[in-house]
Amino acid sequence: MSTKLAIIIPCYNEQEVLPMTIQRINSLLCDLMSERKIDFDSFALYVDDGSSDRTWEIIEEKNQSDNYTKGLKLAANSGHQNALLAGLEAVSEIADITVTIDADLQDDERVIEKMIDAYNDGCDIVYGVRSSRKNDSFFKRTTAQGFYKIMNVMGAKTVYNHADFRLMSKRAVKQLLKYNERNMFLRGIVPLIGYKTAMVEYARTKRVAGESKYPLRKMIAFAFEGITSFSAKPITLILGLGFIIVILTLAAMIYALVAHFAGTTVPGWTSLMLSIWFLGGVQLISVGLIGKYVGKIYIESKQRPRYNIEKSHLEDKDNTN
Ligand code: UDP
Ligand code: MG
Repeated sequence: MSTKLAIIIPCYNEQEVLPMTIQRINSLLCDLMSERKIDFDSFALYVDDGSSDRTWEIIEEKNQSDNYTKGLKLAANSGHQNALLAGLEAVSEIADITVTIDADLQDDERVIEKMIDAYNDGCDIVYGVRSSRKNDSFFKRTTAQGFYKIMNVMGAKTVYNHADFRLMSKRAVKQLLKYNERNMFLRGIVPLIGYKTAMVEYARTKRVAGESKYPLRKMIAFAFEGITSFSAKPITLILGLGFIIVILTLAAMIYALVAHFAGTTVPGWTSLMLSIWFLGGVQLISVGLIGKYVGKIYIESKQRPRYNIEKSHLEDKDNTN
């Protein structure tokens, strides 16, 4: 059985860690090949996301000197998610399975072997999941976990403690590429694909060298993009708030009328109070309603695929895999 593996590694200004990363990935590929788990023409694709340091030079040098290293250079910094997509798109026709992993090797590349085992057991998507975050700072840990919780409440179902370390089969990648939206939040989209999935656990380590490319500012922006590029739920919340306020107006009306007839109010207070509550609620409902239409346009504009066929008796037997 031959399975051609492509490991996709996005790199943005990673000159400090890249030499070590390439060495570790190469030794992994070498071991997997000698165990006959993957094809001999499997490779690693380093996607240079518009780095301004020596990242691309390092990739080129290694491409000359070893058989495993290939490079893809993006013309400008396009962000982690787009770098991953560029890599996946580039190998979608040639690789049987892809694994995406960060360049800093915070994720244990040795569990890729377990991922391949799960693939051989019939899984199309295998998520790498952190068993513990004790190597992350308290701050990073709490903010990241808060992020998963908010995402789930807002309607983007993500896999808990899974970042972008995952294996995908060729057909899963092809289905993923049918999602046409510009702003791809992979962690939210991949679970929508379907197919049989599995998880493998690993302990996430510290960055070996270089600095995190995700400071707090970028993390907040990422969370915000994730929520707004995924669901129109915030709009629904506004609409709900409008209805709640209109209902509260009824309570306020009773209170205001009682106060009015009891004579404890100054003239004009009752009508003023009631109009403020009522109009506030009506305005929120109106904004929410308009928002609902905008939300529909937004969902339509993504042109997402509606379904993914897993098996069919209409196709030729050869095409089903
Ligand atoms: N990265 C990228 N483009 C960017 C930012 C980051 O390709 O604009 C890559 C980076 O080189 C690394 C991965 O995305 O391979 C994750 O970044 P990092 O390790 O800095 O994030 P953290 O682990 O701190 O969340
Ligand atoms: Mg990292």
